[in-house]
Amino acid sequence: MVDSNIDVIVVGGGPVGMATALGLAHHGVSCTVIEPQTQASEGSKAFVMWGRTLEAFEAWGLTDALLARGDPRDTVAPVSTETGRPIFTVDFSGLAEHSAMPGVLFLSQSSTEALLREAVESHPDVTWVHGEVVDVVQEADAVAVEVHGGGEGVPAKTMHARYVVGADGARSVVRSSQGGQLTGKPIRVEVLVVDVALEDGAGLDDEAALPPILLVRKHPGLLAALRFSPGRWRILESRTPIVPVCATAADDLPPATPDRTVEELEVLAHEVFGPRALSVVWQSQTTLYQQRAQHFRLGQRVVLAGDSAHLVSPSGGQGMNQGIQDAENLAWSLAAAVAADKAGDAATVDAMLDGYAGERERVADVVARRARLNSRLEFATPPWLRPMAFAAMRGALSITWFARHLARRLSMRDLRYTVRDSARLQAGSRLGRGSGLWFGARFSLGAVGRSVPNVVQPDGRRLFAAIEARVAVISVACDPPAVSDGVVAVRVERAPRGTRLRKGDVAVIRPDRHIGAALRRPTATRLRDALASAGGVQFPGPLAPPDRN
Ligand SMILES: Cc1cc2nc3c(=O)[nH]c(=O)nc-3n(C[C@H](O)[C@H](O)[C@H](O)COP(=O)(O)OP(=O)(O)OC[C@H]3O[C@@H](n4cnc5c(N)ncnc54)[C@H](O)[C@@H]3O)c2cc1C
Repeated sequence: MVDSNIDVIVVGGGPVGMATALGLAHHGVSCTVIEPQTQASEGSKAFVMWGRTLEAFEAWGLTDALLARGDPRDTVAPVSTETGRPIFTVDFSGLAEHSAMPGVLFLSQSSTEALLREAVESHPDVTWVHGEVVDVVQEADAVAVEVHGGGEGVPAKTMHARYVVGADGARSVVRSSQGGQLTGKPIRVEVLVVDVALEDGAGLDDEAALPPILLVRKHPGLLAALRFSPGRWRILESRTPIVPVCATAADDLPPATPDRTVEELEVLAHEVFGPRALSVVWQSQTTLYQQRAQHFRLGQRVVLAGDSAHLVSPSGGQGMNQGIQDAENLAWSLAAAVAADKAGDAATVDAMLDGYAGERERVADVVARRARLNSRLEFATPPWLRPMAFAAMRGALSITWFARHLARRLSMRDLRYTVRDSARLQAGSRLGRGSGLWFGARFSLGAVGRSVPNVVQPDGRRLFAAIEARVAVISVACDPPAVSDGVVAVRVERAPRGTRLRKGDVAVIRPDRHIGAALRRPTATRLRDALASAGGVQFPGPLAPPDRN
């Protein structure tokens, strides 16, 4: 028996652990976060938050605070320190039709964590426990978590919960305690990251004098600087001529380059900013081994999210974003699993937790492939080849299709799941198959797993404001079915772009805004089945099929 009333313990109060806790609370599940650090982590680390991540936070009521604290941008345009002109411009404003947050937010990870911590610590459904987890043991119907520390003289204790989320970072104790294996060829990405403060106020508001993204074109290897808050900059330098370095095991990798002195770092900073007064605030030599856990669900009751599940090159700024998007998927999946566990419905528990794992494992592979390519382009392009590479980039960005594709890809909006990733998506697509005309079934099949854009509705509101990150139904150009028990049903006049839905389709939208099931002309029973298999919840109330207007 579960000897405590804790539904979920989240091990690790980094950005992903805190996002998971807020997501669980949004779905009505209280949880306990265990974290040894008393302060948010230092340094800028993940300083890029992409639009897709902001959308996840929007559902949990945090986006406005994040936007107010950071520097939101609709374009990314690195400017050459040699010529003072943009090298190329990626414009996200074309995505505004489909998103309230089309662009990117520059905000240091320490600020993000501080803000999340305020939200988590003041949330009535989240309990914050100071301590370090040293072991996790799965029992028949609970998980035992051994916690050390939490202050001098505080004895070690064992806590129990129905489920445990390992959000305890790269050296995850949760993962290792369950025998979780890392998979994939290790790729070492070695980058010097330095935060500097400009002391003469430069870069505070005069963007003509000092644009927010700078690139030193003639530096051997990459040397760039990005402003993440007024007067605060991150410098990025690739420290080896060609990275990533590939090897078959981490032990085979060549030794890391030794750390640089503050004087050496200041020389580097002056190469970017010229003779301005500045000081080095923080530095980190990132040596990441791009790998992922073989399975994101370990046993019956433990799941991994964030860096404990995957390590990715910082190139392209995807790591934390990917982790927070894990949290978005995990929060509703785990909330459904907790409810099913209490009801003794083991099949739904498996569908939800295996679904989370399968879907996010595949996304981790996609993100890793992209980060590997980004690393090669950013860090390994020799200086003599750069003018040609930049000219090619400018040429490609002048093509509308490519510019839009790149903006969607960078902001992680093109990530989707496929029916091969999880049984819950297979169920959602099977329900569509055979439920109507042959061609209708085919389109429904292609829709499942895709993300729904946040389109503007005829009443001027965005779609996400109507569906509120809960299980919802949208019907395309037909009246929504009469659903009960809190299921939001929304009629859209046109199929949202990129969803493959068509007039007359009815789709079940999951809380993470992916299509869980797509149906043509569903009967009430079929729609009820779709809500259960895609959303993991039972709706005992009446359901009626949509009217076909
Ligand atoms: C120099 C650098 C630059 C980066 N740049 C970017 C970027 O530009 N964009 C991007 O998206 N990502 C970037 N990343 C990656 C990003 O920082 C991580 O992906 C992100 O921090 C992952 O969050 P997390 O919550 O999964 O793990 P972490 O941030 O590692 O948090 C894990 C938490 O678990 C706690 N913990 C650990 N062990 C235990 C235990 N046994 N018991 C309890 N708690 C425990 C830790 O104290 C910590 O608070 C960068 C990383 C580095 C190092």
